[in-house]
Parts: sequence; structure tokens; C-alpha cells
Amino acid sequence: MKIEATEKYCRFSVDGKTYNGTVRGNMVDIVEGDIFSGFSGMRMSYPIERVKLLPPITPTKVWCVGRNYVGHVRELAQELPSEPLIFMKPLTTIVGSGDPVRIPEWAGRIDYEGELAAVIGKRCRKVAEAEALSYVVGYSCFNDVTARELQERDDQWTRAKSFDTFGPFGPFILLKSEIPGETRITTRLNGNVVQQDSFSSMIFSVARIVSHISRFATLEPGDIIATGTPEGIGKVSPGDRVEVEIDGVGVLSNPFVAEH
Ligand code: MG
Repeated sequence: MKIEATEKYCRFSVDGKTYNGTVRGNMVDIVEGDIFSGFSGMRMSYPIERVKLLPPITPTKVWCVGRNYVGHVRELAQELPSEPLIFMKPLTTIVGSGDPVRIPEWAGRIDYEGELAAVIGKRCRKVAEAEALSYVVGYSCFNDVTARELQERDDQWTRAKSFDTFGPFGPFILLKSEIPGETRITTRLNGNVVQQDSFSSMIFSVARIVSHISRFATLEPGDIIATGTPEGIGKVSPGDRVEVEIDGVGVLSNPFVAEH
């Protein structure tokens, strides 16, 4: 059974085993192979509520873009960037949908940042903007959780962005190389909408960002790029739940808990 190019891909565990899969309504179908070397269906399915959804891939690297929506740049009282502002998060930030984000009290104010993550499917270096999307295998939801006070205090962003669990990712990858500009991203805090915008509001497009990074670093299969957050960042506290929803892609939902 050949899988259509616009399927939603996931990874999940059930009965003590981990599988790659695709999503069909309320079911997940096990597949053999992966999105990088190709996969095919196995004719074995589970109801989605029976499985534990995992991050849809284990990323190779986590690239991020700062200040990529005009409204967000204004709320930070910063200058509009003239080129994409790139930083990274370590792989130990990555957790799946449903996993708790742990926030230590000493870290000060912690913010959610709902974002679109592009997943790189093929190795590339020095790729032109016009070709860049052919290296993107799909899109998922990302929450670039940030220790806001430490970000300001440190003068650079590494510690503020790098706490364990500060990178919720998933639960699905929409297997498409291009996501329409009118697609909406919505972040909810305890069910209330706090961020909502569409990708046409990005200052730098996914193609521009991929091309830009590839000028100085080789992008590899499994690299993900969190493409920046829209206006409406805000504080999260232990006991809160944050959902990042991208229309047609899925909902990434995580509880926030105090770390002791
Ligand atoms: Mg961000």
C-alpha cells in the first residue's frame, strides 16, 4: 500500500513497542520505514486514544528563528530584523504532546511561544530560495518555551531556551513541502486563545529561512526549524496547559508543572 504524499505522519508507543505511523481519522496505521528513506503501510491500526503519541521524529538539530512576525517584534519593542535571526535549542528540550514541561521556580518568568516547525527531509547546503522547499518534508507544531527574564539578563539566549522539556514538538508531521500562507496558527492558554495569526504574516518565509541557514550550515534530514512566534507571548505557571494548533496539522498540548 503506497502512502499519499499529504498524509500525516507520527510516532507512537503501544503495548511496550514503538512504531512509526500515519493518521487516518481516529486511527493510527503502523508503517514500515520512515519519512526520510520512504515508508509503506502495514495494515495494522490502533485507535489513536489507545496509543501514546511521541515526538514524530527525533530531531537531528533544532534550529529556531527569533523575531519573525511584525506584531511580535513590536511587542518586544525591537527593531525589525534585516535577515533571519537564528539560534538553537538542544535536543534535550524535545518532548511530545501530552508530556509535562517542567519549570523551576528560580528561572523567573516562563513564556509559551507557539510556532510552525519545518522538518528537513534531505541534506542541503547553499540552496537557493527558489529550490529550498524541495528539501522540506513536512510541518509540525512547536512550542519554543522561553525563560524570559534569563533571556534578558544573559544578553544571549542559550540558557533561556535550553531547559530540559522546553521544546514540545508534534504530535503529527503534515507531509507537504509547502504550507499555504493563509494557514492559521493558534495558541491557547488553559483554553483561551492568546496567539492567532497566519503564516503570511511571517517576515521571512520558510523558503528564505532554509536558504539562509544553508548558506552557513549543512541542513540534514531530521533537522527541524521553529520559524518564530506571532504576537501574544505570555507567562505560563505550574498547573497551566498550553495548546499550539496549526489548521490541518494538529494540536500540540502540554501541561506545565513545577520542577522540584
Ligand atoms: Mg521563538
